[in-house]
Amino acid sequence: MWNGNHSRKQYSRHSGFGHGVDYMYELALNNVTLVDPDNGVWCGSIGMSDGIIATISEDVLSGDTAIDATGLLAFPGLVDPHTHFGMKGNVTEDFQASTRAAIRGGVTSALVFFRTGHPYKETLEPFIEQARAGSLIDFGIHCGLLTPEHLAEIPWLIEHGVTSFKFYMGYKGFEKARYGSSQAMDDGFFVDVIAALTPYRDKVVLAVHCENPELTARYRHSISPQGTQFLDRFNQENPPDAEAEAIWKAAFLSNRGGVPLYVVHLSSAEGASAVRQLKNLPSKRPMWVETCPHYLVTDTSNRFGPMAAVLPPLRAPGDNEVLWEEVLSGAICTVGSDHCSYQRSEKVTEDGQLVPQAFGFGEVGHTLSLLLEEGRRQRQMPLADIARCTSRNSAKIFGLYPSKGSLRPGADADIVLVDLEQEWSLPLPDLDMSIYEGRTVTGLPVMTIKGGRVVAQGLTLNSGAKLGRYLHRG
Ligand SMILES: [Zn+2]
Repeated sequence: MWNGNHSRKQYSRHSGFGHGVDYMYELALNNVTLVDPDNGVWCGSIGMSDGIIATISEDVLSGDTAIDATGLLAFPGLVDPHTHFGMKGNVTEDFQASTRAAIRGGVTSALVFFRTGHPYKETLEPFIEQARAGSLIDFGIHCGLLTPEHLAEIPWLIEHGVTSFKFYMGYKGFEKARYGSSQAMDDGFFVDVIAALTPYRDKVVLAVHCENPELTARYRHSISPQGTQFLDRFNQENPPDAEAEAIWKAAFLSNRGGVPLYVVHLSSAEGASAVRQLKNLPSKRPMWVETCPHYLVTDTSNRFGPMAAVLPPLRAPGDNEVLWEEVLSGAICTVGSDHCSYQRSEKVTEDGQLVPQAFGFGEVGHTLSLLLEEGRRQRQMPLADIARCTSRNSAKIFGLYPSKGSLRPGADADIVLVDLEQEWSLPLPDLDMSIYEGRTVTGLPVMTIKGGRVVAQGLTLNSGAKLGRYLHRG
């Protein structure tokens, strides 16, 4: 039953733009179970035309294409808040390969981190053009703030649709190697970043990678590599308290400037404890917290060793249960993939060592199935909560709602249909390597609809999928 914000009179049995029941939609999904992040789970029909959801109805609708979706769930297309499409090699090709996986797995929009030591006035538009030539999904950009010139460019970036920015606490000491900047990512520059964003605090979000590299450097020297598995050692070298301490600092400094804070990729029980304590303190602005599937569903026992190296690292068994508690409580409100499309050979040397600085792995497109398996099946996570943390919350935080992250009339017709009973084996075929290889999950994305067109079916891409667009925000 429709029980949205609109009056019952306008929307009794049929909510939309005034079409009668005989109206022919371009695409109609009938008898589908809507997993509506705003209104819960209910059975109805969705009529789509001109790339948007035109109608939500309790009646069966007519369409140029009409699909009987009995027994299937319709989620809003996923909005992945954290990806690194185009981070290496040819930008267009990386977008193409990564977004093929995204589409198969029901991801129809993403926010992409773009960072460079060069000015954005020279680099942003070429990056967007190259991305648009390959991306099969809609994408917005978060920009890393890495130099004093970047801070001066903030008004220009906002004009160009970038309203979220990133500060990398963990990269202090690695600035040259990572992005060729001579500006230290220290606390002084962090304060400068917050001061530069403060005049725009009503329209921007600051995403922060919370790790204190001085602590990690201290631990690195005190750990004996002998007899320790790679992922255990890597966790000890980049320990949870380095994350927790950095969260306290990021919250303190950003709150002082009144700048909304988005903690990316929360990984540890100790970090979750910091979040819990901070959420109980008065604060001027919101603090949102993201985690990633890999911190929820795997740990240092992952059999792929160096291939599973990521920062922050996979944690010891047990930490993920604490993160689940915070996902279920809503304190962690988004799940982002942190997708980096490394090939196996770029990640691990022939003798099995980690290639220096090759942190991260391909993951986009797996989020929904992993949450259905580990969240819903194993921990009774409500379906509407899965829709909230995979689409609506990211869309709201990053200025894309209600076009994205919603199943209401007027939203973009981006939908993923799921068969909850069907098993499949990860990974998606577009990824050269996956830390989930061999894992079976129940909950298959059987169809992805993007802009009112069916673009993937049964994990297979339809030919002629259209390119996505750049999401100019603000
Ligand atoms: Zn990342």
